Amino acid sequence: MDEANGEIYFALRDFRSDFASISCSGPDFVQWVFVNHAIKLLKSSIGLFQTVVQDRDHKFLTRAVEEAYKGVDCGDGGPFGAVVVRNDEVVVSCHNMVLKHTDPTAHAEVTAIREACKKLNQIELADCEIYASCEPCPMCFGAIHLSRIKRLVYGAKAEAAIAIGFDDFIADALRGTGFYQKASMEIKRADGKEAIIAEQVFEKTKAKFQMY
Ligand SMILES: [Zn+2]
Repeated sequence: MDEANGEIYFALRDFRSDFASISCSGPDFVQWVFVNHAIKLLKSSIGLFQTVVQDRDHKFLTRAVEEAYKGVDCGDGGPFGAVVVRNDEVVVSCHNMVLKHTDPTAHAEVTAIREACKKLNQIELADCEIYASCEPCPMCFGAIHLSRIKRLVYGAKAEAAIAIGFDDFIADALRGTGFYQKASMEIKRADGKEAIIAEQVFEKTKAKFQMY
């Protein structure tokens, strides 16, 4: 954020500096100054926008990862968390409830969608985003699709869950199937440090919960 703001600051400062020279220059130079600085400002603004998106994605994905740990600590189910967000506000923050509810469909994402719909009293979540600690399985991906959620951000790759014993069908939703191709939502997979933090959940919790 600070870095991007800094870029805009310097772009504006350079613009003021060149603008001061315009009065003693010809029209070509004036045009060059405007075009050159318009490009610089545009680039800086895009940088700022990307940084803001990354910051909020990091914040909500961290919340989903925290939910994954919480679910295991409570004995509610497997290490998966999901957060539904609307207008930068958390609508619901949920975790896997399979053991608690004796319900094989009570995955974090499905639980979050059910809770969000109830809370907002609507059956479509077209103005919402969902942050999942792990790549959604086909059932959850289907639920996300049916709820019309506009954007999905997830942390760990399915392989990290499969590595500790979860069913490898988890990976089927986002592996180039026809269903995935049809989905119109924006899908973002975390990378770098965020992906590592999300994937560590499985190794750190595997001794604490009962595999189902
Ligand atoms: Zn699922």
